[in-house]
Amino acid sequence: MSLPSHASVVVIGGGIMGCSTLYHLAKMGVSDAILIERNKLTSGTTWHSAAQVRALRHSQNLTRMIQYSVDLYAQLEEETGQNVGWIQKGSLSIATNPDRLTHIKRQEALAHAYGVNAQSVSAAQAKERWPLMNADDVIGAVWSPDDGRVSPSDVCAALVKAAKGLGTKIFEDTGVTGILTENGKVVGVETTQGTVMCDAIALCAGLWSRDVGAMAGAEVPALACEHFYLLTKPIDGISGNMPTLSDHDNHLYIRDDSGGLLVGCFEPMGKPIKPGILDENFEFGLLGEDWEHFEPMMMNALHRLPALETAEVKMLLNGPESFTPDGMFMLGETAETKGLFLGCGMNSVGLASGGGAGMNLAHAIVHGHTAYDLGEADAKRFAPIYNSLDHLMARAPEILGTHYEIAYPGKQLSTARNLRALPLDQEYKAAGAHFGQVYGWERPLYFGKTAEPRMTFNKPDWFENVRAEVMAAHEKAAIFDASPFGKIEVKGPDAEAFLQQSCAMNMGRAPGSAIYTAVLNSRGTYESDITAHRIADDHYRLFVGTNAIKRDLSWFTRLSDSFDVTLTDSTEDYAVLGVMGPEAARIAREIGADDLNQIGYFKHATATVAGCDVRAVRMSYVGEAGWEITMNAKDASTVYAALTKAGAVPAGLFAQTAMRVEKGFAAMGHELDSDVTPIEAGMDAMVAKKKSFLGSDALAERRKSAERGLMTIIIDDESAVPLGHEPIYAGGKIVGHTTTATFGYRIGKPIALGYVHLNKADGAKVDVDIAGTRFAAHLQFAPAFDPEGTRMRG
Ligand SMILES: Cc1cc2nc3c(=O)[nH]c(=O)nc-3n(C[C@H](O)[C@H](O)[C@H](O)COP(=O)(O)OP(=O)(O)OC[C@H]3O[C@@H](n4cnc5c(N)ncnc54)[C@H](O)[C@@H]3O)c2cc1C
Repeated sequence: MSLPSHASVVVIGGGIMGCSTLYHLAKMGVSDAILIERNKLTSGTTWHSAAQVRALRHSQNLTRMIQYSVDLYAQLEEETGQNVGWIQKGSLSIATNPDRLTHIKRQEALAHAYGVNAQSVSAAQAKERWPLMNADDVIGAVWSPDDGRVSPSDVCAALVKAAKGLGTKIFEDTGVTGILTENGKVVGVETTQGTVMCDAIALCAGLWSRDVGAMAGAEVPALACEHFYLLTKPIDGISGNMPTLSDHDNHLYIRDDSGGLLVGCFEPMGKPIKPGILDENFEFGLLGEDWEHFEPMMMNALHRLPALETAEVKMLLNGPESFTPDGMFMLGETAETKGLFLGCGMNSVGLASGGGAGMNLAHAIVHGHTAYDLGEADAKRFAPIYNSLDHLMARAPEILGTHYEIAYPGKQLSTARNLRALPLDQEYKAAGAHFGQVYGWERPLYFGKTAEPRMTFNKPDWFENVRAEVMAAHEKAAIFDASPFGKIEVKGPDAEAFLQQSCAMNMGRAPGSAIYTAVLNSRGTYESDITAHRIADDHYRLFVGTNAIKRDLSWFTRLSDSFDVTLTDSTEDYAVLGVMGPEAARIAREIGADDLNQIGYFKHATATVAGCDVRAVRMSYVGEAGWEITMNAKDASTVYAALTKAGAVPAGLFAQTAMRVEKGFAAMGHELDSDVTPIEAGMDAMVAKKKSFLGSDALAERRKSAERGLMTIIIDDESAVPLGHEPIYAGGKIVGHTTTATFGYRIGKPIALGYVHLNKADGAKVDVDIAGTRFAAHLQFAPAFDPEGTRMRG
């Protein structure tokens, strides 16, 4: 069979991601799609996968995606006649310390919110399910009966059989050697067997995806690490199939395999593999056993399974698997190259994710968007620096280890830090900032740090530091650094017409205006939310989320084709300091910038602060009056010195989040995403009704039936520590879940935002399930804290 001269879609790679994507493309009617594999199907990582499928993930849509995989794998045999080895014996997660118990109980609560079957069991009940386990130190467990596992090669065989039946074709022993592009768009692939022109590429090349992406100038930050599991010969006590045993405190997963044991690990720090070491000849390959590296895990395994002591080891399997900088896979079109869609960086859950991820990837190629929001896996979420080899070599091994870590709130990664410094980095270090990394930037989370914070699910060590910052903003004045926000300059004669078409608010306001607006897609759901400063008739500056710059710049650029505008990224040119609080007015006067006091709400103007030219806009993200002041990055230190001398104090990201939640402001990626319209988010009032824009028709249709769902939740018990993603109960039923949660320092109560589906919800009494404990709370549409107006004390 020879390659066709053209295919609508070329799938590169014949592992689980490529096979699933081809299957779903075929199901969606793309019958001329082809899959190109340089060796044999599954010969990369897929063939040796332990292939466990555990449904529960940290977000609703990821859980939904894996549930899709479960349903797909469970019915593939019936559909294709090909057995896929689906064994649904459940999984058991044990805890050996109180924090792990909290962690798995939070997961159980989440499971209930997301419709996944899960229940707490005692240590004795856990032992009943896994008699070979030493349960002496086990203090509790969660049982998930619907989890299972598959035979990876058989699943791929079944997917491919069905896909071929629908007309698609597979080409093995055919390597992709180049990607052809024209004007930044994919037009074809060069292979060892000739050239195929195409409209789109699904890049599913596993650990080689970074190299293949580079053929088209795209950034694909993923790197392989070694991943181990031990196999024993048959042992007494294992008969038939057993559940998967997750002993995450000891970094282990355990199950039966052909009458023996399979013991896999995610050790705290993995071993990275430099690109190039595994080349095209690595076919059905394995890496060398490394007993020295595995030894600590072996000791843990011997503790958990005394029977291992006398078991005969078959092999210590060592296979490569790719990891991304944040532990989430990459799915969707790249910012750099149109028509190039990523489905890679699977972080050791490629089999569990594969069914649902392949469906979503095919959906993105065919329909232009995933079947539901998968923003957390967006291929465009990484700063360019994340693609550097130095960064990946340092970060990927830590990500392997985080796989089984307790998900403590506020936990930061320790490797590959200090990639991007804010203009005020030195000042913040001097003020004792505790930093967190966002899009490579080191951002202060809170100030006055004296030691590394202890990780806990209880009241955090930084509680009083954050309270002090919130109170400074509430009673005096605080400085919030918004410098890392993405900034896009939109210039040209069509600037207004272009933004009127791509934004939901009226963007035609006079120069000197600031406009907060939703940016919607054709379905009327959120792509982004931004603030625009109209600087001149033909010039707007857009402020977008810190980690949204690549995605938003690409979104706007692709919409701008038929307009006479230019778009440029000016993020690093400017620093932005929010000065918020009742003393902001006095401070402005004291530093010789009384002009700021003349600026109206949602207006901006230029001024001089400490001899530096600035542009200030009167608006607030934290519910205290003030300005966001934009200046040249080089002037930030001078302006900051003047502000702090006059009495303002720096405040970090934790204080900002606490205050935004109190003020009821929704944020992209938390309350707003591509599943939500401004109607459900309670922001329809901020949508222009008298103009046509992208998404306006869909929104008008949705207005006929949709209702506001986003509410503020106020918990009675001051000691409760909600973290977000908790189920909300009313009358014994789940009626919604929290999105962002925090302590509301100005009202003295734990609070959250969340989506609730309940009649007469305003004022309703509910319960919030935090790690299995129900806390009484009430719902309200109004913000938890709403200062009267935005007055400042003079
Ligand atoms: C030891 C181990 C245990 C695991 N256990 C589990 C588990 O229990 N559950 C789970 O969900 N996941 C598990 N995983 C992870 C899972 O196996 C992977 O995430 C998944 O197999 C990755 O699939 P893929 O399709 O992305 O990549 P691959 O299977 O590697 O497929 C990529 C394919 O692309 C081909 N290719 C590369 N470059 C080119 C080119 N230029 N032209 C053409 N073809 C090319 C390669 O030959 C390869 O066949 C495990 C992984 C390991 C290593």
